[in-house]
Amino acid sequence: MIIKEYIHKMVSEIYSNSITLNDIKDRIIFEFCDDIALRKSELQNSNVTSDDRKIDGSMVIPLPFNGFYYILINQNLKNDINILETIAHELSHLEDYYIFSQKYCSGDYSLITSNERWLPFYFYSEYKAKKSGYNALYNALYSKPHNENIKAYEIMLDEIYENRYNDLIKNFEIAVKRIGNNENVLSNLYDIFRYLGIFESWTNLSVGKIKAYEAICKVLNVEFISLIDLSNNMNSDIVDLILLKKQIYQVLNVSLE
Ligand SMILES: [Zn+2]
Repeated sequence: MIIKEYIHKMVSEIYSNSITLNDIKDRIIFEFCDDIALRKSELQNSNVTSDDRKIDGSMVIPLPFNGFYYILINQNLKNDINILETIAHELSHLEDYYIFSQKYCSGDYSLITSNERWLPFYFYSEYKAKKSGYNALYNALYSKPHNENIKAYEIMLDEIYENRYNDLIKNFEIAVKRIGNNENVLSNLYDIFRYLGIFESWTNLSVGKIKAYEAICKVLNVEFISLIDLSNNMNSDIVDLILLKKQIYQVLNVSLE
């Protein structure tokens, strides 16, 4: 299967599993670009750009006069199987932000970041997007074993074991320590939720030697196991975000204000 077919299949599956995305799918535009931050600022009519040209993707919520939802994807991913992760990740954010704006901001996207539920929502959405992105990538790779995707699957396993696994555990521990020292608490917390999303997606891999969850539990102390449990129990429709915020404070034993 060529990458385009993987994308098509994955996106139709995501739409059919999400009432929200299915409702707005005719207004979702996928666009490749060189400089995502620049394109995003054009679409949002703002001057805010980022120096980070390496961003893989971003979703852009519609302007009042536009009405289209954009999924911007880095040009470099065009022939890369990891594009599946990026697309699923951004669609997951789009779903969350859409639901959040309808539920708490009367559909006005500009009010999202000033809502009191914003912070836990921001963490929750990143955790969920990471998990959804990786799950979608793995599902696609698993879907029909033939030579091409077995190769991709082997590359993925190598990546997990030889590069990403140890690095992620190390980075996770560093982020935890920094939070303990009150260093850049918000950005470290954001990273932690991203790592938790990836760890969680690994636990869904039912390959004999992958025991990511057990390994993670061994290196983390009990408070952080609670954090994993906390993330696993999140659900955008039923989660009490104020309570979640309190729980995050409690589990990390830090003040975010
Ligand atoms: Zn994200």
